[in-house]
Amino acid sequence: MSAAETQATGTFKGLKLTNTLTRQKEDFRAIDDENVRLYVCGPTVYDYAHIGNARPAIVFDVMFRLLKHLYGEDHVTYVRNITDVDDKINARALRDYPDLALNDAIAKVTRKTADQYHKDIKALHVQEPTFEPRATQHIEGMVKMIGVLIEKGHAYQAGGEVLFDTGSMPDYGGLSKRKLEDQLAGARIAVDAHKKNPGDFVLWKLSSEEEPGWDSPWGRGRPGWHIECSVMSEHHLGKVFDIHGGGLDLIFPHHENEIAQSCCAHDTRTMANYWMHNGFLQVEGRKMSKSEGNFFTIQELLETENFGGRKWPGEVLRLAMLMTNYREPIDFSMRKLEEAENLLAKWPDLVETNVEPDPEIVELLSDDLNSSAAIQALHALAVEAAKDPQKLPVYSASADLLGVAPVSADLSGIDETAIDAAVKARLDALKNKNWDEADRIRNELASQGIQLKDSKDSETGERLTSWEVKK
Ligand code: AMP
Ligand code: ZN
Repeated sequence: MSAAETQATGTFKGLKLTNTLTRQKEDFRAIDDENVRLYVCGPTVYDYAHIGNARPAIVFDVMFRLLKHLYGEDHVTYVRNITDVDDKINARALRDYPDLALNDAIAKVTRKTADQYHKDIKALHVQEPTFEPRATQHIEGMVKMIGVLIEKGHAYQAGGEVLFDTGSMPDYGGLSKRKLEDQLAGARIAVDAHKKNPGDFVLWKLSSEEEPGWDSPWGRGRPGWHIECSVMSEHHLGKVFDIHGGGLDLIFPHHENEIAQSCCAHDTRTMANYWMHNGFLQVEGRKMSKSEGNFFTIQELLETENFGGRKWPGEVLRLAMLMTNYREPIDFSMRKLEEAENLLAKWPDLVETNVEPDPEIVELLSDDLNSSAAIQALHALAVEAAKDPQKLPVYSASADLLGVAPVSADLSGIDETAIDAAVKARLDALKNKNWDEADRIRNELASQGIQLKDSKDSETGERLTSWEVKK
């Protein structure tokens, strides 16, 4: 691979990023200004996402919007994957659908969870990435890459697994700055007897008859977690790309191991030139996580009154998230959400426009995504635009760069429970072939600006109806 294909030698456009590889704020230069390439690790779809999981989705959505502004709408490729093969998914499938064949149960869990994730992050104004590959679509590529790693002496078979040999890579640990010797020095680390080095990690593991599996030269099995991102990023972005992102907890082992696999398989010096990691969303000083049990799902915050006795609009959740810069921790609190809501209450509605955003806001975001300062500047602009309609276009374009918007007046007046009840009554009417009643309900909802969308469950054939507010 020639240096030109991997070196960050593009034009400097004012963007500076803190690169986890060097722990320095660096001038960002793309490999190819015509196609800036960003990869972010997406969700494992076994359960609803919590508001902490929304942080990388929102932070890198702003990055995507900013890159499109700097390089042009069609000159950025953003890949955010879906992890749909994982032992947590299998366990959930067994628990929730004990009467189904495991494969069908898994399909149900992953589909339901991925659908909910899309609905959740859409409510947080997160745009769709350019590509959203699923791990199960790339098993063949994973088998191929594992084969290459074995061939090049970077992986070995032992104890029903194929493992990556961390000892075969002299600079393993470069991202997290963990040295192999440090790991060995802690003599208390339990080394699985079949591993050559304690840090060796699974590329492939054999599946029992009941477990999901795919054929491979090493027997019917399933991939480890890390290999999927190496394969999906190469597929869509090439062997070396510009920016790789995710939450702080992914630096080690996930991203370290992605780098090890990709660099050793491709003989490259790096996998991505810039690595960005968002800080944690915390509750009383502790990371929000499923295992701590201190979490609120996005759906819960949007649709129930479980947090603070009320629902929270997506616009408020998003603004609250961006009021803290992405590398700092956020304490998730009512106060924070109310602060965001109070700001939004002063902002005028956005207008359609194709003017450029405010250069000061572009500059602030270009400084390592300084979203907190950008929001202060946007707020000042919003207050001016509320008094002077001439400023509405530049205010709107700037708000769009952050994906933030005042809470739509249309939405706040709507009684969702009543609409859900009407939708259900219409489904009952259809079931009873009472077409007139079904039409009457549809028309009545339409007169309130509610549009119904019918679809069918692809497995059961059952009719499903969703609704949205027609602007
Ligand atoms: P997971 O489903 O746990 O793999 O997480 C998906 C993404 O959310 C990863 O990028 C994690 O780093 C990120 N993440 C998980 N918990 C938090 C949190 N409390 N705050 C911020 N990011 C998080
Ligand atoms: Zn990943």
